[in-house]
Amino acid sequence: MMNAEAATADIGVIGGSGFYSFLEEVTEVRVDTPYGAPSDSLFLGELAGRRVAFLPRHGRGHHLPPHRINYRANLWALRSVGVRQVLGPCAVGGLRPEYGPGTLLVPDQLVDRTKSRTQTYYDGEVRADGVRSNVVHLGFADPYCPRGREAALAAARGRDWQPVDGGTLVVVEGPRFSTRAESRWHAAMGWSVVGMTGHPEAVLARELGLCYSTMTLVTDLDAGAEAGEGVSHEEVLAVFAANVGRLRSVLFDAVAQLPATEDRTCGCAHALDGIDTGVELP
Ligand SMILES: [Zn+2]
Repeated sequence: MMNAEAATADIGVIGGSGFYSFLEEVTEVRVDTPYGAPSDSLFLGELAGRRVAFLPRHGRGHHLPPHRINYRANLWALRSVGVRQVLGPCAVGGLRPEYGPGTLLVPDQLVDRTKSRTQTYYDGEVRADGVRSNVVHLGFADPYCPRGREAALAAARGRDWQPVDGGTLVVVEGPRFSTRAESRWHAAMGWSVVGMTGHPEAVLARELGLCYSTMTLVTDLDAGAEAGEGVSHEEVLAVFAANVGRLRSVLFDAVAQLPATEDRTCGCAHALDGIDTGVELP
């Protein structure tokens, strides 16, 4: 039996098991949601005096490709154990030669080029439990929590990992990587890095009144930004493995720097103020 305290958390981290597997006293909590099952159980533990819920984005053993992740269930599950601030680090390709492997970039903008993912809780449909949401249009001009970005940047600097402050993350559907033409187009638009998982995580967090920010680790130069053969999955894994230790350190320092839930001064918590969504949040 777990006590009630052990089953709650303030901060959510969406990422692989490399981030929490060595923590002592991790409690595994299975959560079901009106949107189906999340990618995996939540793994709750204490870190720097904060209660943190870790969720393996791709599931244990990495069996879920980016386009098959149940993003709605993931964010809902986190909120239902008490989480109000979420960090969602992810691996990306660099779209500029100066953003080579090992670059840490904390984006401030996002471009959505996904195709098949449900990216709202409020689509007017009836859920399995009979609840019908209203149709809601939320502001999303600034997709990331400014406070979360600040914490990530300060944490990176504190670990002597000079981060790129700002830039645009373009999220593609995958699971394939980009063609050279797509990659050159993304770069020509002025976008910075390309990934497959940063969306709809960001907007679903906003729709639940959660703070959400990401830190992106460049694992390769995208096809249009390098002269060679384009990216391979093996290269991506190798660079990720070489950096996962320091990424974890930065992530944990960022967690420690986030404000207490009740001290949030950013606008994220008020995203739904005055809006009748028809849905009661957990
Ligand atoms: Zn916020």
